[in-house]
Amino acid sequence: MKIHEFQGKLVLQKYGVATTKGQVAYTPDQVKEIAEQLGGTVVVKAQVHVGGRGKAGGVKLGKTPVEAFEVGKQILGMDLKGLKVKKVLVEGAINIDKEYYLGMLFDRDTRQIIVMVSAEGGMDIEEVNEKTPEKIARVWVDPTMGLQDYQIRDLIFGAKLDKNYVKPITKFLRGLYNAFVGSDATLAEINPLVITKEGDVIAADCKMDIDDNALFRQPELAPWQESEEDNAIEDEARTRGLTYVHLSGDIGIIGNGAGLVMTTLDAVSREGGQPSNFLDIGGGAKAEVVRNALEVVLMEPKIKAVLINIFGGITRCDEVAKGILEATSTMDIKVPIVVRFSGTREAEGRKLLEGTKLIPAASMQEAARKVVEVGYGAAVR
Ligand code: GDP
Ligand code: MN
Repeated sequence: MKIHEFQGKLVLQKYGVATTKGQVAYTPDQVKEIAEQLGGTVVVKAQVHVGGRGKAGGVKLGKTPVEAFEVGKQILGMDLKGLKVKKVLVEGAINIDKEYYLGMLFDRDTRQIIVMVSAEGGMDIEEVNEKTPEKIARVWVDPTMGLQDYQIRDLIFGAKLDKNYVKPITKFLRGLYNAFVGSDATLAEINPLVITKEGDVIAADCKMDIDDNALFRQPELAPWQESEEDNAIEDEARTRGLTYVHLSGDIGIIGNGAGLVMTTLDAVSREGGQPSNFLDIGGGAKAEVVRNALEVVLMEPKIKAVLINIFGGITRCDEVAKGILEATSTMDIKVPIVVRFSGTREAEGRKLLEGTKLIPAASMQEAARKVVEVGYGAAVR
């Protein structure tokens, strides 16, 4: 589970880690009010579960309360990498002298915690990792031993951080490690860790992921779980008891079994199609379920064609065929539907579709190619 920057900073503060402080606002007026209380220049930061907000225009300075109101107005409601900004964090601006990067992350291969430090903090740590990986110092921490003093020294000297700040950075790393373990985090990134012109060492940003499986013992964090984005079709699917995830494309996908649906998405993408959704109808597939699934998929106005991919095991393809025919005969469907059956009674299933508008396909690849053809008018690949 991802938590917001302002929430991560609350966790850090609980463990004695220094962070910039501020308040959350939901309207430009609230931004202005907080700016008036704080006095001086403020920084207004979008609180959405994406990285790189700064570069995408989601972090801005306001020198006066009126300016804060203006940038608050720009950021609130904006689309940040596909997510709508509903709240911002308003903090007193700091005087940045140096920006460092600190990262902790759970490493499943070694079953240890990787701690990473770099003097090249700020916005482009991914680029540093790609072009000059030697500028990132790393140690692996055995969770039964904890972060050792010698490892902290290795990190600080390895990353060539300013030696005048060994003591406060050591304190910071210890606190961050305790926060990481204590809150069952799988990731904690402080980018930037700032050394201010006044000489303070302070977290200016905080990105944290919490292990979903540990939420039962994190009663303070569990309520922070939010749905990633509001999508009306997903809401509707949920009320109909369907496992549906909205995607950005225009080819509707329906299948039985999560793995099969994932593979179908890949197959359609490989043929140049853009899937509009993930929809797993599970076992069975009675007419009622098929009708619900089709109705939900067709709610996306962009939809150009639909692929129904059924693997018959205990579920018999001829029964599914009957369900599809029953459902489609009572619906006014304007886009072509490709159906692929595989497994138990697939031939019988296909025979039932003969003479209807439904387009049969023998293999997954053929189905993917056909749905792209009929959807886009011609093969894209
Ligand atoms: P991210 O882009 O999502 O990682 O958001 P950050 O919180 O890291 O903000 C992006 C950049 O904004 C930082 O790297 C800083 O350079 C800058 N920034 C953030 N807070 C402050 C602040 O209080 N004062 C100043 N001057 N710059 C800030
Ligand atoms: Mn950052």
